[in-house]
Amino acid sequence: MSGHDHGDDDRKETCPDPVRPSPVRPNPVRPGVVKSVTSLANPTVKDIRSLQQRKYRRETGRFVAEGLKLVTDAVEANWPIEIFVHADKVGSQDAVARVAAKVKARGGLILQVSEAVLAKMTHRENPQMVIGVFRQKTLRLDDIHPARTTVWVALEGIKDPGNLGTVIRTVDSVGAAGVILVGDTVDPFSIETVRATMGSIFAVPIVRASVEEFLAWKESFPGPVVGTHLAGAVDYRTIPYPEPMILLMGNEQSGLLRPIAEACDHLVKIPMAGKADSLNLAVSTGIMLYEIRRERLVL
Ligand code: SAM
Repeated sequence: MSGHDHGDDDRKETCPDPVRPSPVRPNPVRPGVVKSVTSLANPTVKDIRSLQQRKYRRETGRFVAEGLKLVTDAVEANWPIEIFVHADKVGSQDAVARVAAKVKARGGLILQVSEAVLAKMTHRENPQMVIGVFRQKTLRLDDIHPARTTVWVALEGIKDPGNLGTVIRTVDSVGAAGVILVGDTVDPFSIETVRATMGSIFAVPIVRASVEEFLAWKESFPGPVVGTHLAGAVDYRTIPYPEPMILLMGNEQSGLLRPIAEACDHLVKIPMAGKADSLNLAVSTGIMLYEIRRERLVL
C-alpha cells in the first residue's frame, strides 16, 4: 500500500502505454460472495481508497466509478466488474439488488458497508451510496479498423480530467468512433474523468499512443486529419468532412505540438468575436463534432 492517501496525482504523472492489467496483490476476499464490512482498516477498503492514486490504478489496472447510474451502465455494457460496494441502507432497493445479483452471477465480490466506510473509500463526506471497481480497458492504434469507423477524436496532451470526461461524453453523443489519447495525457480512468463522462466511459473506445506512434500510424489512415488551431486560416464551416477522418485537438495550455500540426491535412479555426483568445478544449471539440456529424445526426 502506498503511503499517499490524498487525492489524485493526474497532473504530475505521464501516461504513455496502453494498460495491461496486472494485479499486484491477490484479492483478499474470494470473488462471487457477499461480505459485510464495517472496519475502516479492512484491506479491501484500503485498496479501493488507493485507487484514487494514478500510480495504483496503473499497477492494478483497476478504477472506480461512483453512483448507481454509472455502475448500472457499466454492468449492462458487460464491462468487467470486480467489486460492487453499496451502503447497507440501500441494499433492499430493487435497482441496487438487481446490480448486486448480476455482479454476483459474474463472480464479482459484493461488499455491504456502512456510510463511514464508503466515505473512507471515496475521500468524500457525502459519498455516493454505490461504487464499483472495474478493470480498465484501452486499445492500441492497431486495433482500429479505419474503414469501419466514422470520426476519431485525437487529443494531444490533454491535461484536464473534466475536459477529457466531457469530450468522451460528447464523442458518445454524436456517435463518433472513439478517442485517441496522444502523448502525455490525463488518466481517462481518474475518478474526475469517469464522473464527467456520465457513463460514456463504458461506451467509448479509448486508444493510447505516443506522439511518434500516432504520427506513423496516421500515414496509413485512409481519411483526412483535421487539426484545430488558433493560427488556422480556414473557417471550420467551409470544408467538407468525409468519414472516416481524424479530428485533432491540442493541449489546454499550448495547443497542438508543431510536428502534429504540420502533419494535418487541414488546420481549421472556429471564429471568435469577443476578447477571449481561445475557446475551452471540450467546448471547441463539441462545436467541431457537431459540424462534422451535422448531416448524420437526426432527432
Ligand atoms: N494557448 C493555446 C494555443 O495557443 O493554442 C490555447 C489552446 S486551446 C485552450 C486548446 C485547444 O482547443 C486548441 O489546441 C484547439 O484544439 C482548440 N481550440 C480552442 N479554441 C479554438 C478556436 N477558436 N479554433 C480552433 N480550435 C480551438
